[in-house]
This record gives sequence, C-alpha cells and structure tokens, in this order.
Amino acid sequence: MAIHYHCRHCGMKMGTIDQVSIHSEQLGLHKLSAEERQEMVSYDQQGEIHIATICEDCQEYLTRNPEYHQYDFLIH
Ligand SMILES: [Zn+2]
Repeated sequence: MAIHYHCRHCGMKMGTIDQVSIHSEQLGLHKLSAEERQEMVSYDQQGEIHIATICEDCQEYLTRNPEYHQYDFLIH
C-alpha cells in the first residue's frame, strides 16, 4: 500500500509514501470529519490512498490572491 499526495488545485503530484503498513488512524485521518475525509482522501482499485492537499505554488498563489480561494481548480 502506498499513499499518494497531490495538489487539489493544480493536480500536481507532491509525493508518495511507499510501503505504508500503518493504519489510517496513525496518519491522523480519523481527526478529519467524515466530510473532510471524503473530500481529501480517496482510495483506488489497488487500495492505495490518494490525499488531496495543496502545493506550495498554489498556497502562495492563494495567499497573494485570496479571491481565487473560491475556485477549486487553478491554471498557473
Ligand atoms: Zn497546486
């Protein structure tokens, strides 16, 4: 099992954690509400976990352009 992180705004792959044998509880995922978890975390057919987060570029962009926060998808 692996965990893949990608940016929810631009779709950029941010990293993968391979050979994960820990349970989602130890990743802190249980601290998210069911809604947040549904929004951020998805599982594919291989049972791998995909986590939608935000990359540095988008974070910086949104910090400078707060009005774009309403859009889920950004094109740089
Ligand atoms: Zn991004």
